[in-house]
Order: sequence, then C-alpha cells, then structure tokens
Amino acid sequence: MSETPQPPSSASTNEGKQQQNALSLSDFQSVIHKMFYEKDQSRGIEGTFMWFMEEVGELSSALRDNTDRENLEEEFADVLAWLATMANVAGVDLEQAVSRKYVQGCPRCHQIVCTCDLAWKP
Ligand SMILES: [Zn+2]
Repeated sequence: MSETPQPPSSASTNEGKQQQNALSLSDFQSVIHKMFYEKDQSRGIEGTFMWFMEEVGELSSALRDNTDRENLEEEFADVLAWLATMANVAGVDLEQAVSRKYVQGCPRCHQIVCTCDLAWKP
C-alpha cells in the first residue's frame, strides 16, 4: 500500500495538446446528464445516493483485491459517474464547486502543497 500508482505516461507528455477523447469535469457532467438525467431525476436523490454508495463499496473491493487493473479503473469511473449523477439531480455544477474550493490551494492552509497536520482534512 506504500506505492503510489503512476498515471499513464501519455498523460504527462501531452501537456498543451488536446488529447483525443479528453473530457473536462464539466464535459463529463454534461455527458452524464445527457445519458441519464431523465432516469436520474425520476429515481431521485435518495435512490441515486444508494447507487453511489454501492459503487463506493465496489471500489473498496477492487482496491482490496488489487488483482484486476481494468476492473479497478472501471470502479473509479463508476464512482465518478454516480457522483456526477448526484450533482445533476441536486443541481450542482461540479467543476465550479471543485474550482471554488480547491483550485486556490488547500481550503485550510491555502498552500498548493498542503502543510496541514495529517489528522486534519479540508
Ligand atoms: Zn492544508
């Protein structure tokens, strides 16, 4: 558990270039909206939250198991998709919310590299 997974090398070498199929957080939320909003709206926030938590559980299993890289990546994608779904149902713009809270640095110490005590969280 001490090794940090490294992103694929293409992620760091294409800076400044538009990667094919690259999505901003805002684009991703729009895609999820287009695909699922009618169903998501009729299911409502409580039902959607249950699905989100189920996906979090599946991500936990994939992290513990740590034998199937493709499945692990899919579980991360599912958790993000269900988070975007909840944001759509709740009327929250994820990119705006994330930018407001995190782009200027750690919400607590205001440093780009957080210097807060390990026991604190934003
Ligand atoms: Zn901090």
